[in-house]
Amino acid sequence: MSNVPVLEVKDLKKHFPVRKGLLRRTVGHVYAVDGISFTIGEGETLGLVGESGCGKSTAGRAILRLIEPTSGTVKVLGRDIAPLTKKELRPYRQQMQIVFQDPFSSLNPRMTAGEIVGEPLYVHGIKGRKERLDRVAALFDRVGLRPAQMSNYPHQFSGGQRQRIGIARALALGPKLIVGDEPVSALDVSIQAQVINLLQDLQRERRLSYLFISHNLAVVEHISHRIAVMYLGRIVEHADTRTIFTNPQHPYTEALLSAVPVPDPAIKRQKRVLQGDVPSPVNPPSGCHFHTRCPYAVARCKVETPLLREIAPGHHVSCHLR
Ligand code: SF4
Repeated sequence: MSNVPVLEVKDLKKHFPVRKGLLRRTVGHVYAVDGISFTIGEGETLGLVGESGCGKSTAGRAILRLIEPTSGTVKVLGRDIAPLTKKELRPYRQQMQIVFQDPFSSLNPRMTAGEIVGEPLYVHGIKGRKERLDRVAALFDRVGLRPAQMSNYPHQFSGGQRQRIGIARALALGPKLIVGDEPVSALDVSIQAQVINLLQDLQRERRLSYLFISHNLAVVEHISHRIAVMYLGRIVEHADTRTIFTNPQHPYTEALLSAVPVPDPAIKRQKRVLQGDVPSPVNPPSGCHFHTRCPYAVARCKVETPLLREIAPGHHVSCHLR
């Protein structure tokens, strides 16, 4: 494994201005991503987990520069890509791909599956039709589709097959990193397992690194080496997957975990139902953002923001009580 992380994110922020009135004055900000840091090594998967609205998808897009970050650094293979121009960014774009949640809306319905997978090859300079077709056929084969299906249109595929097309498209340029934004959430449970197995096989073969974004801890458990739990724009706990599942230390992680079914009936988890929705990121609660829903909150939690501290090797938690 290379010593240089494939992805190194430091203090990444994405704040969206809230504008009002005729003059569109900025009256506040949505603190969608508010200073997150992590690294992903070669052949490693980091699961980024949290409820809808916690900023995890915005983080994925800011990392890929599909939206411009407000501040912070994003290093890909050791190079900070934040200051790069569109042209300078191009070789790094090849290294980082995304697989979206909804394979139907992310595939152009007017293009054949073969054209969809071959498009990035064309855009990045492989103009020879025969070479492109051969490479697309090999990609189809690798993701479990028949090359004969290259001439079919997206609506002729099932949901799981469409996600395989999305994965083939992401693989076309031989990336080092794939950001999966809820890549299996729209699929039936049995199909989810097949797609996760495919992603794991591809990771082993190609030493791929994944940032796997999901609202569901159970989904990320099987694919992630480490997990970062996000709440209202911040990472509140970050550890290896086993630690997150066996020794969670943040009350929010505990609550998310209590919703994960345990296959062994002998093991009982205490049920902690989270009260209410995630508060608005426009005016997040003061101090610890989680204090409005935390069953252990004390007076200090309302006024003082807890730092993300390393409480054991590789285990980081942001809570005053830990
Ligand atoms: Fe709960 Fe306070 Fe810890 Fe925040 S800092 S998670 S409110 S106990």
